[in-house]
Amino acid sequence: MISRRSFLAKGSVLLCGAGLCSRVSATTVFSNANKFPLVISTWNHGMAANEAAWNILKKGGHSLDAVEAGVRVPEADPNVITVGKGGIPDASGKVTLDACIMDEKGRAGSVTYLQHIKHPVSVARLVMEKTPHVMLSGKGALKFALDNGFEKEKLLTKARKAEWKKWKKEQSEFSNRINIENVTEDNHDTIGMLAIDEEGRISGACTTSGMGYKMPGRVGDSPIIGAGLFVDGEVGGATATGSGELVMKTLGSFLVVEFMRQGKSPKKACEESVRRIARKIPDYEKHQIGYIALNTKGEYGSFCMQPGFNYAVKTAEKTELVEAEAWFKKL
Ligand code: ASP
Repeated sequence: MISRRSFLAKGSVLLCGAGLCSRVSATTVFSNANKFPLVISTWNHGMAANEAAWNILKKGGHSLDAVEAGVRVPEADPNVITVGKGGIPDASGKVTLDACIMDEKGRAGSVTYLQHIKHPVSVARLVMEKTPHVMLSGKGALKFALDNGFEKEKLLTKARKAEWKKWKKEQSEFSNRINIENVTEDNHDTIGMLAIDEEGRISGACTTSGMGYKMPGRVGDSPIIGAGLFVDGEVGGATATGSGELVMKTLGSFLVVEFMRQGKSPKKACEESVRRIARKIPDYEKHQIGYIALNTKGEYGSFCMQPGFNYAVKTAEKTELVEAEAWFKKL
């Protein structure tokens, strides 16, 4: 599979040049007002995840239960190599997971650098519901999970272990060579999900094994409230995928929600958040970033840095995978 990086290197996309200002052509604004419940989520693996969320939404369930059930699907699927069990390990061969969840009341929970637990999103939910805190990390998060009945299991599959061994052999001084530019579409793809239920309540969840072969100890944007995910029940929600460092530096999902608060459509708000990265971060063109957003009217949209990001949509009327518009255009 061609990586985003080699795709760029081959010059298959056109830089919009210095024109950070007027690069977007026709803007399709999704106008699906009052068409909820609905659920949207990042990437192809969002299709199966949306089905699980939909089973809850269609019965009038709460969006919080829907997003948790939804993202548990790729977390449990060893063939999804960027989330949960079967995720690509860090440079030392350990699978370390990041996840968070947030509801329409602004309640939030998060876990970072969690090992041995297949469903970090459910641990994040328990952090939200059972502790006075928002985020638990590493050994503390694991102890909390075990104390609350989660079972330890092996997350590194044989296939990922074999790939990691091969990768490690190829690294001469690997600790110096780990670089976020090595992130390709083959080694990172978080699931971020947003749902609005029958009663108009928006919740979101975000879960990932993070950047493949990341430096041990690295935590990305996905479990950071405001970066990988943000929900404001009066406005809407947003979630991110891609090079987490860039999303963290711009507090990307919070920014998307704030743009929606100012009256921008979900798509336009995502575009403005991508634009912020392009304005502020010098090597932005080497990275993929994808945002999806949903507002309280049930309107949704997306925007990304590089062509190739898609997101899954499920409503009573449709089940589809939508190609997001990108900052860089395909030639
Ligand atoms: N945002 C994730 C991270 O940086 C990776 C991804 O979405 O692909 O950990």
